[in-house]
Amino acid sequence: MITIDGSFGEGGGQILRSSLALSIVTGSPFRIENIRANRKKPGLMRQHLTAVRAAMEISLARVVGDEIGSTELEFVPGEVVGGNYTFSIGTAGSTTLVLQTVLLPLVLANAPSCIVLEGGTHNPLAPPFDFLVRAYLPLLKRMGVNVEAGLERAGFFPAGGGRAIVRIEPAPVLKRIDIADRGRLKRRCAMAVVSKLSRSIGERELKIVQRHLGWGDEELGVVEVERSVGPGNIVTIEVEYENVTEMFTGFGEVGRSAEAVAHDAVQQCQRYLKSDAPVGEYLTDQLMLPMAIAGSGSFRSTGLSLHAQTHVELIQKFLDVRIETEKHADGSETISIV
Ligand code: AMP
Repeated sequence: MITIDGSFGEGGGQILRSSLALSIVTGSPFRIENIRANRKKPGLMRQHLTAVRAAMEISLARVVGDEIGSTELEFVPGEVVGGNYTFSIGTAGSTTLVLQTVLLPLVLANAPSCIVLEGGTHNPLAPPFDFLVRAYLPLLKRMGVNVEAGLERAGFFPAGGGRAIVRIEPAPVLKRIDIADRGRLKRRCAMAVVSKLSRSIGERELKIVQRHLGWGDEELGVVEVERSVGPGNIVTIEVEYENVTEMFTGFGEVGRSAEAVAHDAVQQCQRYLKSDAPVGEYLTDQLMLPMAIAGSGSFRSTGLSLHAQTHVELIQKFLDVRIETEKHADGSETISIV
């Protein structure tokens, strides 16, 4: 049995979620201790427990320690079963993170799957639903993976209540991809999304984006969401290149000005545009998992976050791959799976 120390490196939920995914894909049982030890509230929160139960359900796993607050877990996976599943978090916890736990195992299953996810769809500190659809899934598509994700209702933090439907076509193997450069810029746009809040918040946000990025009116838009449960606001800035699409998100919250929300997204985008590496911070740690499961591949990143460095170590505990990183003079880093 593989033993994982959940407090190593970044010490957050990703260590648990990726261990679950890798355990199912490789058929290797694991035990994890010190779950989320570096977080303010360590142990399994609702979202993590939902991820554990989802992993358990799709792989008929035997599990010990699947309780709220638990800091230890033993997981023995069985066979992955494609099919229809509903995973409801019950709080505004991130549905995209629950999805990322079961997505790759279900891609490698022997039958298609349809998953209904309920909870938060646009959470700080997690991939927003739009990032999943615009940035992450297109790269999986290039690896031969067909996943369609539709948002039925947005769920903003803290009210939650979002609902997404994801259809997964099985693929027997994941294809190798290599992403060394961005390629030509095809499209760019910034959206200010408001739900149950004044449209003027979105307009103020786009003014900041326009002032700092100098984009034209036709590249900016306010989206008023109607069917969500609670209030919410995000700013997304998207740049679509031939070889990659990146998205930067600022999250509104009570007490944070519209200007501060927009500035956050703008600064992330400016950092990305200063580099010429194709893969930004968040995609870097997320892309490593499918690439490692594919068994080979490479990409150039703007740099490795602690999340990414932790992921490098974790993945190598489950898979028989070597993940090499090479730092270039301009600060970018090439990650190669060999
Ligand atoms: P953890 O903090 O360990 O639960 O992991 C959080 C995950 O969410 C990591 O894979 C991050 O790359 C991802 N993430 C956090 N913020 C964003 C964001 N704004 N856009 C896309 N992904 C994000």
